[in-house]
Amino acid sequence: MREIILLKLGEIVLKGLNKRRFEEKLMSNIRKSLENCGKFNMKIAQSTIYIFPSDEFEFDKAVENLKCVFGIVSIVTCGETEKDINKIKAFACEYLKDVLNNVKTFKCEAKRSDKAFPLKSPEICMELGGHLLENFPHLKVDVKNPDVVVYTEVRDYGAFVHAGRIQGAGGMPVGSNGKACLLLSGGIDSPVAGYMTAKRGVSLEAVHFYSYPYTSERAKDKVIKLARIIARYTGKFKLYVVPFTKPQLEIYEKCPDEELTVIMRCIMMKIAEALAKKHGSLGLITGESIGQVASQTLEALAVTDASVSMPVIRPLIGMDKEEIVTISKKIGAFETSILPYEDCCTVFVPKHPKTKPQLEKILQSEKLLDIDAIIDDCVNNVEVITIEPLED
Ligand code: ATP
Ligand code: MG
Repeated sequence: MREIILLKLGEIVLKGLNKRRFEEKLMSNIRKSLENCGKFNMKIAQSTIYIFPSDEFEFDKAVENLKCVFGIVSIVTCGETEKDINKIKAFACEYLKDVLNNVKTFKCEAKRSDKAFPLKSPEICMELGGHLLENFPHLKVDVKNPDVVVYTEVRDYGAFVHAGRIQGAGGMPVGSNGKACLLLSGGIDSPVAGYMTAKRGVSLEAVHFYSYPYTSERAKDKVIKLARIIARYTGKFKLYVVPFTKPQLEIYEKCPDEELTVIMRCIMMKIAEALAKKHGSLGLITGESIGQVASQTLEALAVTDASVSMPVIRPLIGMDKEEIVTISKKIGAFETSILPYEDCCTVFVPKHPKTKPQLEKILQSEKLLDIDAIIDDCVNNVEVITIEPLED
């Protein structure tokens, strides 16, 4: 008996002429995600990817990894048998005996994509259902609300039996929709923003502004860990750590107190944009949501937007904190995000931040700074870290 994995694809199926490109991207992402699980063969047919494992393949670990691959809607672990109804019947009894012994009701469903198979789907269900009732006398059929659904799939590459699917990550394969640069803080929001953008098929790189010694080495480690959690979904990517103390002190010294936060955010955006352009990113991603804090009023967002020419992607724009926290927990980032280390934004906070900054005034104040020199200095002194997916 051999167990295999079937992966059902989502939106890619709708991609018409581009479908092949999306499928190839997805298969290459799957290959990378299973790199540490041992040898396997992969095939694709009729919008389903087959993983045929070798003997030493780490099956459970592979399933865990696959749960993080965007583009997969569901993951099915199933037993493989021959395309012969008697073999299927005997096999289902054996393969599913533990499951069936622990439930009271079931129903059968079948999919016959190999049209050469002599029985149609309803006939497969009738035959198999009857056989299961004979062999598990405690069972009853319940078509509306069964405890378990027994699936038979007769496909080009074989006949497969299983008792349900695991939900996949959904979305589109990372790398199928360009690259963007995530402004990654140590907070709750930006890792979620990165995850959501990657889910739409965008590859990531990330930039973190680091104000040593005002923020500690541990704060940087925390950001690296958050990046590694995101990398479970994206595969490895580059994190640019920008030494931000000097610019912050300069802003602090030269600009009006109530404008510090907004100006600092504009400078962060400009530096991120310079790095993004240098490395081929097409947009900047932030974890901002309207009204969450003083620097995220619509007026403030308009000013930060105007500081760059690249599109600013804000996937959390209309979300409540509670909704963001739910996703943060789901992706396993929350526990790390709430560790209490200072962020550079919280170090230099004005007493009375402007909640309705005016672009004209901010541009005026920015003239007090040598912005080109600040950007050049930061870009030239950036520390580049290659982020690998975090393993459990
Ligand atoms: P987060 O939870 O992501 O830290 P926040 O609600 O604390 O967000 P801010 O601190 O105002 O909000 O930051 C808004 C956004 O600016 C963040 O979501 C992030 O994208 C970016 N950002 C803030 N601080 C940094 C930093 N030190 N390095 C890189 N990006 C940052
Ligand atoms: Mg923050």
